Amino acid sequence: MSSNAELHARRQQAVPRGVSNSLPVYAARAANAELWDVEGRRYIDFASGISVLNTGHLHPKVKQAVAQQLEKFTHTCFQVTPYESYVALAEALNALAPGKTPKKTIFLTTGAEAVENAIKIARYHTKRSAVLSFAGGFHGRTLACISLTGKVAAYKAGFGPMLPEVYHLPYPMPYHGVTVEQALASLEQLFRADVDPARVAAIIIEPVLGEGGFYAAPPELLRRLRSLCDSHGMLLIADEIQTGFGRTGRMFAIEHAGVEPDLITFAKSVAGGVPLSGVIGKSEIMDSPTPGGLGGTYAGSPLACAAGLAVLEVMREEQLLSRAQEIGRFMSSRLKGLQVRFPCIGEVRALGAMVAVELVKNGRADAPDADLTKALVQAAGRHGLIILSCGVYGNVIRFLAPLTIGEALLKEGFRLFELALDEVAGSGLKVKAAG
Ligand code: PMP
Repeated sequence: MSSNAELHARRQQAVPRGVSNSLPVYAARAANAELWDVEGRRYIDFASGISVLNTGHLHPKVKQAVAQQLEKFTHTCFQVTPYESYVALAEALNALAPGKTPKKTIFLTTGAEAVENAIKIARYHTKRSAVLSFAGGFHGRTLACISLTGKVAAYKAGFGPMLPEVYHLPYPMPYHGVTVEQALASLEQLFRADVDPARVAAIIIEPVLGEGGFYAAPPELLRRLRSLCDSHGMLLIADEIQTGFGRTGRMFAIEHAGVEPDLITFAKSVAGGVPLSGVIGKSEIMDSPTPGGLGGTYAGSPLACAAGLAVLEVMREEQLLSRAQEIGRFMSSRLKGLQVRFPCIGEVRALGAMVAVELVKNGRADAPDADLTKALVQAAGRHGLIILSCGVYGNVIRFLAPLTIGEALLKEGFRLFELALDEVAGSGLKVKAAG
C-alpha cells in the first residue's frame, strides 16, 4: 500500500489546491472515534469529518442498516419511484423539530443544497427576494451559499458576482465586544438605510457559528429575531447543519432558546457519514413551491435514509443528548484548566459538545494567533489526534469528538491535545499526565 507521502504527491498532481487538507494523512479505516492511516498509524478523531459522525465512524447499527438496504436497491430517485424510508425519516424529523406547528421535510444531499432549497422555499412563500445573514456565518460553497456566507477569503473572493439583495449583520461575540444590542441596532440601521423589510424573505442564522468560530447566539438574539420576523412577515431559517443531531446537547441547537424557526436546514450527522441533507419547515411554507420546483436526482437516497433512521435509533438508545452534555462539561473544564497555564488560550467556549478554544497573542482578544492555531493542528496530528481549526480569524480550535466516544478515548484524546499544545505554546517539556 502507498505511504502518506506518496499519496500526497499524487494528490497534488491530480486534485486542485482549492480543495484543502488539514493533515497530509490518508485514511485506511476507522471505527467509532479512531482512525488508522495507510501506514497503520492510529489517530483519535476529534473532528468527526466536520461534525458528520456524532454516532461515530461505522456505528454497527448504521452500517447494518446501509448493508441491508444495499441488498434491496440503491437508487430509484424518490421523484420517480418513492420508497418508505424517505417518508419514515421525514415523519420522524417532523416530530422532532422544535415547536408545535405541523412540519414537512424535504431531503437533499449536501448542506449547501439544503441552504439553497431553504432560500428558494422562503422566496417562493413570501414572494420576496432579499435575505439577511450574518458576518462570520458559513452556509456552503455554492453561489447562493457563498453570497450568504459572511467571510470573504477564501470563500467569496474571485467567485463573484454574488447573489443580489443579501445583507450581513454582526453576529454577537462577547469576547470581541459585539453585543446583541449592536446586532439588533445594525438590523434597524439596515432597514433604515438599505432595504425595506417588506422585501426581506428570510433571516438565516446558525444558532452557533460553526466555521465562524463556535460562538453561540445568545438566546435573547434568537427570540428577538423571531419576533422581528413575525412582525415583518419574514421567515426565520436556522442553519443547523453543523449544530444539529445532538451536538449541542439538544436535537437542534435553537431549542436552547425555546424558538420555533420557520425552516431548519440540516445535513452532516443526520446519516452518520452517508451524504444526506434537507429542510424541515412549517407545512404551509414547505408546501408553497409547486410540484417539480423542488427535488434532486440523488436527494434522499435510499442508503442515506436507511442510515438516517438508524442514527435516530442510536441517538435514542445511547442517550447521546445527555452524553453531549457530559462531553462538553469534561472538555470545557479541562480546557479552562489549561487556560490558566497557557495564556494563548483567550477563551473557552462550549454549548454541549460543540467546544472550542480561541488562541491569541499576549492574552489579547484583538491579537488572533492563526499561526499558532495552524501549528497546533499539525502538532496534534503528529501526536495522533485529529482536530480542526475554524474562526473568522483562523485562530479557533474546535473539538467535535463523536458523541459515542468512550471515556478512555476521550481522556486520551485530550491528553494528546495537551501534549501538542505544550509542544507549540508551552515549555516544550512533557506536561504531567492529566488522566
Ligand atoms: N452550513 C453550515 C452551518 C455548515 O457548517 C456547512 C458545512 N461546514 C454548510 C452549511 C455546507 O455544508 P456542505 O459542505 O455539506 O455543503
